[in-house]
Amino acid sequence: MSERFQVVERVYRAGDLVGVLTTEPLGRVLDYRAPEGGCGDGDFVEVPLGPRRVLGVVWGPGRGDFDPARIRPVNRVLDARPMRAELRSFLTRAAEYTLTPLPAMLRLATRTPGLGEPASMRRVYRLAGPVPNQLTEARHRVVEALRAFGGLPVTLGELVEAAACGASVVKGLVKLGVVAEEDAPRDTPYPRLQAAKGMRLEGDQVAAGDALVADVARGAYAATLLKGVTGSGKTEVYLEAVAECLRQGRQALVLLPEIALTAEFLTRVEARFGAKPAEWHSGVTMTERRRLWRMVSEGGAELVVGARSALFLPFRDLGLIVVDEEHDTSYKQEEGVLYNARDMAVLRAAICGCPVVLASATPSLETWANVEAGKYRRLDLGSRYGAAEMPEMRAIDMRAEKLPGDRWISETLAGKVRDVVARGEQALLFLNRRGFAPVTLCRACGHQVGCDHCDARMVEHRFQKRLVCHQCGATKPVPVACPSCGVEGRMAAVGPGVERLAEEVAVRFPDARVAVLSSDLFGSARALKEKIAEISAGGADIIIGTQIVAKGHNFPLLTLVGVIDADLGLQGSDLRAAERTFQLMRQVAGRAGRTAERKGEAWLQTHQPEHPVIRAILGGDEEAFWRAEAAERRASGVPPYGRMAGIILSSTDVAQVFDFGGELARRIEPLRRIGAEVWGPAPAPIARVRGRHRVRLLVKAEKGAPLQAAIAEWLAQFKLPRDLRLAVDIDPQSFL
Ligand code: ADP
Ligand code: ZN
Repeated sequence: MSERFQVVERVYRAGDLVGVLTTEPLGRVLDYRAPEGGCGDGDFVEVPLGPRRVLGVVWGPGRGDFDPARIRPVNRVLDARPMRAELRSFLTRAAEYTLTPLPAMLRLATRTPGLGEPASMRRVYRLAGPVPNQLTEARHRVVEALRAFGGLPVTLGELVEAAACGASVVKGLVKLGVVAEEDAPRDTPYPRLQAAKGMRLEGDQVAAGDALVADVARGAYAATLLKGVTGSGKTEVYLEAVAECLRQGRQALVLLPEIALTAEFLTRVEARFGAKPAEWHSGVTMTERRRLWRMVSEGGAELVVGARSALFLPFRDLGLIVVDEEHDTSYKQEEGVLYNARDMAVLRAAICGCPVVLASATPSLETWANVEAGKYRRLDLGSRYGAAEMPEMRAIDMRAEKLPGDRWISETLAGKVRDVVARGEQALLFLNRRGFAPVTLCRACGHQVGCDHCDARMVEHRFQKRLVCHQCGATKPVPVACPSCGVEGRMAAVGPGVERLAEEVAVRFPDARVAVLSSDLFGSARALKEKIAEISAGGADIIIGTQIVAKGHNFPLLTLVGVIDADLGLQGSDLRAAERTFQLMRQVAGRAGRTAERKGEAWLQTHQPEHPVIRAILGGDEEAFWRAEAAERRASGVPPYGRMAGIILSSTDVAQVFDFGGELARRIEPLRRIGAEVWGPAPAPIARVRGRHRVRLLVKAEKGAPLQAAIAEWLAQFKLPRDLRLAVDIDPQSFL
């Protein structure tokens, strides 16, 4: 195995001063004395902190600026592989980039149960000595069972079950020396993947595959945009790079934006490599997490498929990172440590010295600009694999459709749905709104029911029979009397959500089998996965879905996509509104006609068919759209052609949060020096969440400006009032 990241790892003798980074929110790395037996850089240690013992990592020599008499020794070095210099360096750089305190960064990299506990053991059995000829029937069954396990260690429970005997029979054989009883680590390596041949690449796939394989073989940093419409074979191509990585004996990481996507992917990896890869996301059990974390660090996991937090795993020798659906907004972590996993993946690859592949049908403008600037290479997969094309896209002008107020599907679209269902194919009706209705309104006084803790309207969820706040999750019953004027029986649901659309579909297509896909309607990721598999297999005629359907699922029978409200994303002032709408509409449309035999169509219901974004979507001239969008952003100096940072202040005290915001805006000398502008303080678009008032400032600077350093210097001038929280959001994606 190659060790590319060569640095001097210092070793400390007992009593030497060492710096230890802990996960406690302290301003600095603390000095300790190396314990009996010494320690080394990267060692996981337990150190005393006040009356407590906390987890830490040896982070270089001590600074020696602390009273030597008060420096305490490290309690013990934990039983875990030391954190490699590569990961330490990544955490440091990521912390600097996102202006996150290092302890919070370390917390992301230590999210595993039982870290530092001795490896958990279990008692296992195997055949040991010669088997005597004369054995009782039961003993014979035990021997046969062990043979059947082919030398793999077996637990007593498994053995007793397989041999259909009592535990005493096994123990008897142990006494005879026929069976060995021993302790083995509970966390076992993942099955080896076989880097056998995949599908034969064709057309553009060949050159793309070759280029990525060459990158992996070279083992150096290289960033690539792998662009191609859904179904063009991007996954197939990057799996070739994964295969090469496995041949090199190095580890690969594939990031996916959505847990629901992993099921399909795992099956695919199993078909390609003969076993499932290791899986890392919030739905994975604690036991499995502990196993994965340990195995990743020891090299017992070759391929990890995971959510964004998988970026912080302690890989022993990472040789490739793939970020699939790189444009996806869920790569941006919007709570706690604010980071964009796509950007951090590029950073980690650069530090590791390994290739990174960003795959998408609709790349983000950031990535597009990095290609233009020559920082990323671009590989294009031209058409869909086989003959299937991107579906034809057309607009339905809703101004010409006479729809009653409680209907959302135009006659034109309904006619298409009928045809498709009659042919035994599937139709998808897309509406990016969860719940039944976005607004509950009193027809007597006009009052709209809002959340008690947030400045947000509550959304009716009819399946739950409650109103739900999509900001904080608070719920309440749908009121009979208006909370404002008290008049009874005049509360009305206004506007559509997917649940309401489902009602309309049930009335208008009574014979069709309908499936609603919305993240809140499934109790678990597994339930959602199962539903998706059922639909793929033809278990529904009409699918109604929110944006979770836009993300890469494969529905072979789907030939019609109807977008209920294509204008939805264009409202609001988000600088990425056009980009998002463009991506989403193309992704959704890409669900239709994914196979060669069936051709798909996509119909967009819109009130503004001549809007430039809608026209660009329909025209399908992506490059023209990106160029126009880039020109506009360049002209106004916004990302990716300028830099931005959001400062979000929140407090239960509205006066305090505005006062402090004003104070920040007055003393901006460090920002002025780099030519940055400051906007605000202004109430955030959602000015109150969970009872906390929110105020935003926006810092804008030129592309090359040292923004983080200036912000750090600026904020260092202030002392935060006690109840006030301040978060810095570098490269903000959301302006809520
Ligand atoms: P994408 O990741 O771009 O959406 P996929 O890699 O999932 O595309 O490919 C779409 C479908 O086409 C998959 O079912 C895949 O197995 C199949 N496919 C792609 N390339 C090939 C190939 N060269 N030979 C056979 N099947 C292929
Ligand atoms: Zn709320």
